[in-house]
Amino acid sequence: MSHHLLRHYIAGAFVGSSRTFDNVSPVDGRLLGQVCEAGQAEVNAAVEAAAAAQNGPWARFSAAQRADLLERIADGIERRFEDFVAAEVADTGRPVHQARSLDVARGVQNFRSFAGLVRQAGGEFFEMRSGDGSDVFSYTVRKPHGVVAIISPWNLPLLLLTWKVAPALACGNSVVVKPSEDTPSSATLLAEVMHEVGVPAGAFNLVHGFGPNSAGEFLTRHPRVDAITFTGESRTGSTIMRAAAEGVREVSFELGGKNAAVVFADCDFDAAVAGVLRSSFTNSGQVCLCSERVYVERPIYERFVAALKAGAEKLKIGYPDEDGVNMGSLISHKHRDKVLGYFQLAVEEGASVVTGGGVPRFGDARDKGAFVQPTIWTGLADDARCMREEVFGPVCHIAPFDSDEEVLRRVNDSAYGLAASLWTRDLGRAHRVSRRIHVGMVWVNTWFLRDLRTPFGGARLSGLGREGGRHSLDFYSELTTICVNP
Ligand code: NAD
Repeated sequence: MSHHLLRHYIAGAFVGSSRTFDNVSPVDGRLLGQVCEAGQAEVNAAVEAAAAAQNGPWARFSAAQRADLLERIADGIERRFEDFVAAEVADTGRPVHQARSLDVARGVQNFRSFAGLVRQAGGEFFEMRSGDGSDVFSYTVRKPHGVVAIISPWNLPLLLLTWKVAPALACGNSVVVKPSEDTPSSATLLAEVMHEVGVPAGAFNLVHGFGPNSAGEFLTRHPRVDAITFTGESRTGSTIMRAAAEGVREVSFELGGKNAAVVFADCDFDAAVAGVLRSSFTNSGQVCLCSERVYVERPIYERFVAALKAGAEKLKIGYPDEDGVNMGSLISHKHRDKVLGYFQLAVEEGASVVTGGGVPRFGDARDKGAFVQPTIWTGLADDARCMREEVFGPVCHIAPFDSDEEVLRRVNDSAYGLAASLWTRDLGRAHRVSRRIHVGMVWVNTWFLRDLRTPFGGARLSGLGREGGRHSLDFYSELTTICVNP
């Protein structure tokens, strides 16, 4: 990509602003371009455009017409598929094959999936006999909230943004989106697609910028925003919730995790090793669902540690387009400093470093990138900070366990509650254990496999509410009950 200036998209037009910030490649520190930063004025304009669209042509779209529009957006992304892949790779440094098969593919699928859902969505209907003997019926209609603010993180930029934009538009809302300052590119391309396929002006707006005292905060504090949906850190979720309390706005939060993988001695050993390798190191560990705590039943513990170490040491780290590359850089040098801080803390807390624990050396431009080695620890106490806090890097700790009760207690002893994965051939045990884990999602003999119709979200610090399938339609719409006495 040549040097670019990424602009906001407000009321159907691309607009700039005087303040800008750098868009930098995490692979080699190269400057990719500049991004406009929205101040209060640009955020006001975007929210007002969104509110105005609720009284314009967008408001007259039927559910079927909105579904058709979502399909056209999906077609539009597919037409520019490789541009989206390049944008995602440039911002994040991830392997090209991952951007193709996961990020951009899921972006398309999100729009198609919610197009199908909103076509099928019905309401509720009840009949009752009233005191005067007439048959009264009540039914529900779905209406948009109005203006929905969508704030997304950098780890799966297009996937997580479209996961919210698609159902919000499907339900007839207008949206103002603010992507992460670290990943502004694919969201800007999405705005171009919205423009190309004729999304009515004001229905989709994009503002760039940071969180505190910038676009994110201005947006969540704006009184004309009716609902806020956010994916990111738990602490940011608390801040946004305080902003949303003013005006009693609805929120939906998908937040951090400190997820466990539990490997029972009766598992398919090779499948479990491959599964935990994926769940710990996919996207350089920068997926909210990644496992950072691995518990292995004692009879296979030593063998499992050795096999995971061998697997981690075979992972190829490098440029996004290198042949056979498994892991790219982290998102930024700032984030690498945080991850390396945990690598150091773990040693201070008494961890044995089974593999990794540092920065790979390449002897070329990649040495200026934000790379870290895939890392495995053992020997930490359950109350160590590295066992309690989310690192969000390619790292896991492996501990042995002796019984179901013990491992359940240790898995649940967390401030987070997003996801867990179990590896066992005993499905009876899998059912018994799964329902007692306090998380939003449990995988058995797999990880990251999502049926988009199922509810998704977290317990405790990991989130508030559920999205996915009809749960998304419920969050993005207001239900009105109409009671008729004929
Ligand atoms: P972050 O909270 O730092 O930032 C997320 C977004 O919020 C960015 O767009 C940022 O600019 C904005 N923001 C920051 N402060 C704000 C404020 N005060 N007001 C309004 N907006 C603000 O998170 P991140 O570092 O970008 O993302 C990583 C985190 O996201 C991890 O904790 C990860 O677990 C979590 N995550 C959760 C899920 C999930 O589905 N549960 C999915 C992906 C990532």
